[in-house]
Amino acid sequence: MASDPVFHPWVAQAKAAPVVVAGGAGAWFWTREGERFLDLHAQLGNLHLGHQHPAVVAAVTHQAGRMCTLAPSFGAEVRERAARMILELAPPGARSVLFTTGGADAVEHALRMARCVTGRPKVLAAHRSYHGATEGAIGVTGDPRRWAVPGAGAGTVRFFGPYLYRSEFHATSEEQEGERALAHLRRLLELEGPHTVAAVIVEPVVGSNGVLVPPEGYLAGVRALCDEHGILLVADEVMTGFGRCGAWFACDLWGVRPDLLTFAKGVNSGYVPVGGVVVGERVAEHFAERPYPGGLTYSGHPLACASIVASLTVLEEDGLVDRAADLGERVVRPLLTELAGHLPVVGEVRGRGLAWALELVADRATRAPLAPYAAPGRVHPRMAEVLSACRARGVWPFVAANRVHLFPPLVITEDDLCTGIAAVGAALTLEDS
Ligand code: PMP
Repeated sequence: MASDPVFHPWVAQAKAAPVVVAGGAGAWFWTREGERFLDLHAQLGNLHLGHQHPAVVAAVTHQAGRMCTLAPSFGAEVRERAARMILELAPPGARSVLFTTGGADAVEHALRMARCVTGRPKVLAAHRSYHGATEGAIGVTGDPRRWAVPGAGAGTVRFFGPYLYRSEFHATSEEQEGERALAHLRRLLELEGPHTVAAVIVEPVVGSNGVLVPPEGYLAGVRALCDEHGILLVADEVMTGFGRCGAWFACDLWGVRPDLLTFAKGVNSGYVPVGGVVVGERVAEHFAERPYPGGLTYSGHPLACASIVASLTVLEEDGLVDRAADLGERVVRPLLTELAGHLPVVGEVRGRGLAWALELVADRATRAPLAPYAAPGRVHPRMAEVLSACRARGVWPFVAANRVHLFPPLVITEDDLCTGIAAVGAALTLEDS
């Protein structure tokens, strides 16, 4: 075997066999061999504008012709413009933006800010969560990918968020699940000592761990608990931000204002690596007269900022966020619900906007998962079969644990969306036979 010069994340190097992609356009990409796939994976839930959106490509090219790099201590029009646009869209109370190079370092900085502001060490994070792979971010991540990282998670206390289908609280309704999850969080805080807790970090809608949409009132309840104890609420919107769930931010679905909000992915569809932290009033005030201990050479990178300005302009002008909300309810929910109706392998359909998950089960009555958690970085053979069956039908969804996630680009045509869902259905029909 020729040795691969690329060290691949999450997998054993000898087993990495990536499909080689040659190009993409809109909601489609194709391989070197000319196979075409509908990108329901969106390159990790990233490509709101699809592949090669001309307005973003033009903006990056234009900026590259003027200035490619600039240290963060300098000001630049494009940087200020990007920050201002983000603040205008962010939930009320947003004051400034710290740019990072991706989602994980945004989480790192949000947690550092929370610890600096409160002087407290601990962070509460959900078991069913993903917050990134750098040291602090994997430490607050709940999902099994952290198991293989020795020592990850010192200073993190994990809680169960609401997940009625597999309720930890023996709840039988969404309302009960929400109430009990809040009571559990309250009890955990009492036991930990709220005065030792700097932040509670949540994905307002849990993304790669199953598209878990919380019951009405849950997020507001977490906000109230934080307020009661002077704890900062960090909303990790790396996956959900900029329209994925049919609102600019998932927090907006329930009118909740976080103290810190992390973003990446959809802010510029990942055309240039970037992420950031939206800093709320309390944190902004703390650092008004005190230096913030942190920074990054590429913070506010001009190419990234140019791509942000262009991407947000397209999202706004083309009304893609409202479109995501409409497609989600009018097209995706009915089609997936219908699929679930005749495919016993589908235990539950969940989603909002253009973020959806099909939870696959071996037995609907017991809800036994079709595949147990595989070791970090491995897809269980049953789920690998599901993915191959989808690929054979020209669609590429995001498969994790016992779930098929659909994160289509927000620009996907309605026809492609319907065809893609039908192809996933056909792939799952095999699984049922
Ligand atoms: N937070 C969430 C909610 C995510 O979904 C991700 C990435 N999937 C991250 C953080 C980490 O982002 P990145 O991979 O850009 O570091």
